[in-house]
Amino acid sequence: MHESTRRRELGRGERVLPGVWRLRLALPWPGVPHCNAWALAAGDGIVLVDCGLHEEGSLAQLERAMAQVGLRLADVRLLVCTHAHSDHYGQAADVIDASGCELWMHPNHAHMTSTAESPDEALSRRLEVARMSGVPVAPLAEWAAHARRRGDGVTRVVEPDRKLVQGVMFDTDLGPWSAHETPGHAPSHVCLHQPQRRILISGDHLLGRVSLYFDYGWTPDPVGEFLDSLDKVQRLDARLCLAGHARTFTDVRAHIEANRALVQERLGCVREVVGEHGPITAYDVVPLLYGEPITTLNASWRLPETLCYLRHLELTGALRREDGEPERWVAPR
Ligand SMILES: [Zn+2]
Ligand SMILES: [Zn+2]
Repeated sequence: MHESTRRRELGRGERVLPGVWRLRLALPWPGVPHCNAWALAAGDGIVLVDCGLHEEGSLAQLERAMAQVGLRLADVRLLVCTHAHSDHYGQAADVIDASGCELWMHPNHAHMTSTAESPDEALSRRLEVARMSGVPVAPLAEWAAHARRRGDGVTRVVEPDRKLVQGVMFDTDLGPWSAHETPGHAPSHVCLHQPQRRILISGDHLLGRVSLYFDYGWTPDPVGEFLDSLDKVQRLDARLCLAGHARTFTDVRAHIEANRALVQERLGCVREVVGEHGPITAYDVVPLLYGEPITTLNASWRLPETLCYLRHLELTGALRREDGEPERWVAPR
């Protein structure tokens, strides 16, 4: 969509703590109006955590948000991405070009980078998953057209200079931060932790309101990985969370528990739906699980989320899939 046809919110910067700034950037997505990048004071410059989605005019909005708190792209000494989704990694190439900084990100980023490098292949893989999940032909064609129109939100693919795996650290004026691998939401997801001040930069692993999304098809069991990641983050015992979207929050433990509860509720619901209606396709599970029809807009996250629940229940032996095209799910007797 063009600047002239969409009323875009302007990028905004605000200080949340001495040496920590929130950069709020608009997103073109329904229901997800903005994302956050975080600037952390580090010597004569900053460490930038995440950088917003690329679309027409988006870099100027990042610069505007930074300027509001007295920062410039040239101040970036290091760019750290919590994960490779476009709203966190999309402008990485622009930030690197403007500042000459390094990019640190988890190496399991193929879910984004291979998609951005071979979009047609990625789209046909997604459509094949959709077809096997029971999506009828007409919505399939509509989804393909929608996906092509939407673009990928990435300026260009840049490889990380350093693999941001478990335990990698970087320094800021607040003290050192360490990376904690937290796959589930995305295979490349890490949370960043500052232990002395008990601050967590949570990316999309924990958000102010519970909102689940899992990348399907890149790792064996995204739901199981997400639950393990919740346990791992709970052990860090953070008291302030700077999340990838919306405002900061302090009741970190309660947020972790709310995520766990919602995952368990949905797993229970999927199990019930399949027990009652099986053999059933994933596509037919979606409206029964969420209580509303699957649409072009919600399909890109609800179908993968449902597939991830089915996959987790398959691994735990609670459900199994019947061979065939499309695949149908049943509860073993
Ligand atoms: Zn994400
Ligand atoms: Zn996000």
